[in-house]
Amino acid sequence: MECIFCRISEGKLPADFVYKDGDVFAIRDAHPVAPTHILIIPRKHVPSLADLKSSDDRALISTLVSTAVEVAGKVSLAERGYRLVWNCRAEGGQTVDHIHLHLLGGRQMKWPPG
Ligand code: AMP
Ligand code: ZN
Repeated sequence: MECIFCRISEGKLPADFVYKDGDVFAIRDAHPVAPTHILIIPRKHVPSLADLKSSDDRALISTLVSTAVEVAGKVSLAERGYRLVWNCRAEGGQTVDHIHLHLLGGRQMKWPPG
């Protein structure tokens, strides 16, 4: 299996970790699109939001969101604000098929997103 995020989770590929526990970890994105761009990733391999089937898997969503909120506070984004983004499958712009939540901040976000 050649999943990049599974390899990072297993310590087989280097990454800039901002947070880690037994269920999730957060790393700085290798190609940031904002001054702060962090990915919150579950250790369990689930390809996309559309592949969350069990209630245990769905509980991952709240874990990832609450971790993102915690990390946003840790990197001093809580006051000024930030954006959380889920990309799901091809038309959603997903490029890594292991579910992840983007935390973007440090600049004014635009609406609608591209
Ligand atoms: P998405 O396009 O929503 O699937 O997001 C995948 C993100 O993973 C992109 O923003 C990539 O820049 C990022 N990425 C890909 N490989 C790595 C890596 N080895 N370390 C950190 N971020 C990565
Ligand atoms: Zn994976």
